[in-house]
Amino acid sequence: MGEQRRVVVIGGGLTGLSAAFYTRKFLREAGFEPVVTVLERSGSWGGKIETLHKDGFVIEKGPDSFLARKTAMTDLAKELELDHDLVSTNPNAKKTYLLHKGKLHEMPAGLVLGIPTQIRPFLSSKLVSPAGKIRALMDYVLPPKRGGEDESLGHFIERRLGSEVLENVTEPLLAGIYAGETRHLSLQSTFPQFGAVEREYGSLIRGMMTGRKPAETHTGTKKSAFLTFRQGLQSLVHALVNELGGAVDLRSGTGASSIVKEPQGGYTIELEDGTMLGADSVIVTVPTFAASKLLSPHVDTAALDEIDYVSVANVVLAFDKKDIKTAFDGSGFLVPRKEGRTITACTWTSAKWLHTSADDKVLMRCYVGRAGEQEALKQDDAGLVELVRKDILDLMGIGAQPLFTEVTRLNHSMPQYPVGHVQHIAGLRAELSVKLPGVYIAGAGYDGVGLPDCIRQAKEISAELAAAAQAVPAAVPV
Ligand SMILES: Cc1cc2nc3c(=O)[nH]c(=O)nc-3n(C[C@H](O)[C@H](O)[C@H](O)COP(=O)(O)OP(=O)(O)OC[C@H]3O[C@@H](n4cnc5c(N)ncnc54)[C@H](O)[C@@H]3O)c2cc1C
Repeated sequence: MGEQRRVVVIGGGLTGLSAAFYTRKFLREAGFEPVVTVLERSGSWGGKIETLHKDGFVIEKGPDSFLARKTAMTDLAKELELDHDLVSTNPNAKKTYLLHKGKLHEMPAGLVLGIPTQIRPFLSSKLVSPAGKIRALMDYVLPPKRGGEDESLGHFIERRLGSEVLENVTEPLLAGIYAGETRHLSLQSTFPQFGAVEREYGSLIRGMMTGRKPAETHTGTKKSAFLTFRQGLQSLVHALVNELGGAVDLRSGTGASSIVKEPQGGYTIELEDGTMLGADSVIVTVPTFAASKLLSPHVDTAALDEIDYVSVANVVLAFDKKDIKTAFDGSGFLVPRKEGRTITACTWTSAKWLHTSADDKVLMRCYVGRAGEQEALKQDDAGLVELVRKDILDLMGIGAQPLFTEVTRLNHSMPQYPVGHVQHIAGLRAELSVKLPGVYIAGAGYDGVGLPDCIRQAKEISAELAAAAQAVPAAVPV
């Protein structure tokens, strides 16, 4: 075995665990002996990912699935020999509904990421008024914006398709991913492909039509756009922990409190329990507000401090199928802001994911809270359930007594990338490379919030770290 490299990964969410996995792999491939430690402040691994198995139901308390076309997740599942456990959405539950003036409307065929790419279904949809449709079709003739500088996602959609399409269709779809307010989210950090399409085709609709792939449409899809694991997303976390256990020092129940730069090179990580750890490299994967505390003694952390984290909650309701008269012919519905409801979306989980419940049961998950709508979260659990049950009674006619409910609160969990985020983070990384060489940042607060984005970042940073290790001698351990 070659020369030792000590790496400390701070944060044991999916980014941190994947970073430990790939750093170890790449350092070994480069001929080093990796000595990797992962520090996790809480008592459990996986960060936002948590699966609950209850009374035969598979319940996700955090994320529930991932985008199949972003392959970092399936690649990792293969490496961990977990790919046999991947499951697709129910092919008979492809329809998604949007709430409009208190009624559920089927999403028109051909919507790709909330952008119409089939004109006839868009024109016959009741979601947008005739004037709103004419405004949207002006996208064909409106000149493209010159220059590639960032703007907000909401302003971009409004500029191309008008405010009605933004508010009634695109925002509830896209902002659901960030629990965000599209007029404050960076276009370049969320959907950079839209800007690229505008520049290339001059029209968002024309460009999205050209680039449309069957798997990304809401109807007639051949492949599942989303995937998960039969026993829930936490099975990936368990597989990672099993794989790393023994080979990597996994320390939960204590966080990192500071990073000290040693004069002779390398770093000392001070832990909250008072212990010290030496490191040649450090990978910081904690949310940006926590990363800022660790990095602010060394670099300008304004780029981290301006990222707001929105709080959300979800309420899971389990029913006996016999108590429910409503037919679930789709995967759920989304709620635009102007509808003034407590819930922002509702997934018909047992219809969308057949593995999550027995045939005679129904599982539903309702989402609460988004940027600018944090009021309902002040309710206690019983109050939150009551508000959610009122919404599903009004909107779906379901007044049945649930078998049980499960409330999960994820406080300060959804990072809101501000306009200019890509440039701000690039600037921070440049400063880090000079002032704290060997210290890296990765995770949901930086280059994408989706689970595959987190793994991709972890993999990229690990490759960079291993390449740098070949160029720089290790620090002398203190
Ligand atoms: C409600 C919700 C639903 C979502 N749904 C989906 C979905 O369906 N599909 C999808 O792809 N994505 C989804 N996401 C996004 C995705 O879950 C997250 O972006 C991803 O899990 C973040 O992983 P991470 O490792 O970067 O961060 P985290 O999971 O936040 O992990 C960071 C870890 O760092 C620890 N920590 C903090 N400070 C310290 C410290 N000083 N020292 C040591 N440890 C520390 C924390 O305890 C935490 O465990 C969802 C997110 C939320 C909140």
